[in-house]
Amino acid sequence: MITVREHLERVLAQVAPGPEVRLPLEQAFGLVLAQDVRSPVDLPRFDNSAMDGYAVRAEDVAAADPEEPLLLPVLGDIPAGAGEPRRLRPGTAWRIMTGAPVPEGADAVVPVEDTDGHPREVQVRRPAAPGRHIRRAGEDLRAGQVIVPRGTRIGPPQVAALASAGVSTVRVIAPVRVAVLSTGDELVPLGQPVGPGQIQDSNGPMLVAAVRAAGYHALHGGYLPDDEKTIRSELRRHLDYADVVITTGGVSKGAYDAVKAVLTGEGTMTFTEVAMQPGKPQGFGVLGRRRVPVFTLPGNPVSALVSFEVFIRPALARRAGQRVRPREVTAIVTEGWRSPEGREQYLRVRLSRDPSGGYACTPTGGAGSHLVGGLALADGLAVVPADQTSVPVGSAVRVRTLRPLEEIDADLDHSDPDHPGDQPEAGS
Ligand code: AMP
Ligand code: MG
Repeated sequence: MITVREHLERVLAQVAPGPEVRLPLEQAFGLVLAQDVRSPVDLPRFDNSAMDGYAVRAEDVAAADPEEPLLLPVLGDIPAGAGEPRRLRPGTAWRIMTGAPVPEGADAVVPVEDTDGHPREVQVRRPAAPGRHIRRAGEDLRAGQVIVPRGTRIGPPQVAALASAGVSTVRVIAPVRVAVLSTGDELVPLGQPVGPGQIQDSNGPMLVAAVRAAGYHALHGGYLPDDEKTIRSELRRHLDYADVVITTGGVSKGAYDAVKAVLTGEGTMTFTEVAMQPGKPQGFGVLGRRRVPVFTLPGNPVSALVSFEVFIRPALARRAGQRVRPREVTAIVTEGWRSPEGREQYLRVRLSRDPSGGYACTPTGGAGSHLVGGLALADGLAVVPADQTSVPVGSAVRVRTLRPLEEIDADLDHSDPDHPGDQPEAGS
């Protein structure tokens, strides 16, 4: 047996960031930039007004006072988007809207609130210092300046800056496409009747959901019987296009464990026992001319999901060029349990609030890796180190969350089932 850490290191050593591609900005959300992006223009592109008001010469309104307003003739309106150049003559004003170009000769904007708002002849009640309420060209970004550095994951804020600068395509690490294959003679796809001895395939939909929740593209490639010929040809087909392949089932010690039989000796495939519970039988390797990472997971649904969290999630992140760390909190144990000697245990737990204000955790059922009922109730996986055999009440454990912590927190702070969408009261 090898440790979880050793297996993870072996996996990550064989997974490299994907190829670089140029994509329209609209399709680059969530991907990692493969280049420094520089602004092709100054931002703002031109001097423009920060307020609805009147463009003036500061010196013309220096004496304005609420008691003695100054009267200026208004040359016209400058709405946002106005393109033709305008000039301000001394002693006059232009009525100007937020974002509209400041006319030549003006050096300040008097907000409409400091005037009577008249379109032809405006009364100015307060002075405006030179430069006031003018957004200067280039004050935000200079042409040539790096807007977003290489290695950044593109989120809404980065999209805003790139779009403002008119950057319509970017070089990114290619999106990661994952093929999920369920194997097992007993499996029946959702929506079809389940006969004697058969079960519904849950790993396929579960892993597709896990891949998508992590932000990657998933395709459920189907249900394969425990038949070596079929598995071999179907795998070959998926290796032609997928960036990562995940199979479940057929890697244990049974007489019908066909995935293991087909892949043993192929590429860099190794079948290993990892010192963990659940998830002990693991297979991993890089296959085919496209050198596709292939994970062969055990068939029990809990084992498959734990394997996804522990090995596949970090591998997909690496492939996507991301840096990630497991999402973990520390929680106080409310009901003790036992953990197998020499194996790192991942036990499904529900989180609650500890009286201290931190988290508490409670197992959601037994350790059996077929127990999907308890899985559905779990907020996370308590991680018990290999050398620890008992987890007593009151002790602290690390919990890897299975759903966003902000959602868990919201549920814990507002557990009124009748009003699930409510916000907690201010100060609570
Ligand atoms: P295996 O790893 O093929 O020995 O399967 C271990 C257990 O997981 C068996 O009880 C299988 O019936 C079950 N199993 C295998 N594949 C799936 C699947 N796709 N969905 C649900 N259960 C599965
Ligand atoms: Mg099987």
